[in-house]
Amino acid sequence: MNEKTGAKKTIALIAHDNRKQALIEWAKENVDVLSKHDLCGTGTTAKLISEKTGLTVKGFKSGPMGGDEQIGASIVDGKIDIMIFFWDPLTAQPHDPDVKALLRISVLYDIPIAMNQSTADFLMKSCLINEEYDNHVIDYYDRIRKDNF
Ligand code: PGA
Repeated sequence: MNEKTGAKKTIALIAHDNRKQALIEWAKENVDVLSKHDLCGTGTTAKLISEKTGLTVKGFKSGPMGGDEQIGASIVDGKIDIMIFFWDPLTAQPHDPDVKALLRISVLYDIPIAMNQSTADFLMKSCLINEEYDNHVIDYYDRIRKDNF
């Protein structure tokens, strides 16, 4: 089961509170690449990145208010191609189940996910950032068929 990512991507930006400054600094360093794509993010992250970089970032609800779930639903709908998600490995989050669900959906739909700065750098410098790509969505229905028949 394949889904296509176009040359122009929609990139979701999310950072937990203790990682927001790192994501803002990273976005400033990568403003040229990011400006060539459509951007969205969870509420507070989107607002801060817009303010600090001048980039246009469509904001969903704040993460703890369901923003992660909205981004997950957009991935399912094929509307988000890449996710940069600086989650905090040192602090428990009230919406941890939502975070887990979002990461699961991202893997299922085979979208590139950067969860730290080095991976985000590698993604932005990949030649694929400006090329079309065929994603390899895990085919759940195929698996059910094989298990049952
Ligand atoms: P926020 O959400 O950008 O609205 O703070 C991020 C998160 O906690 O998932």
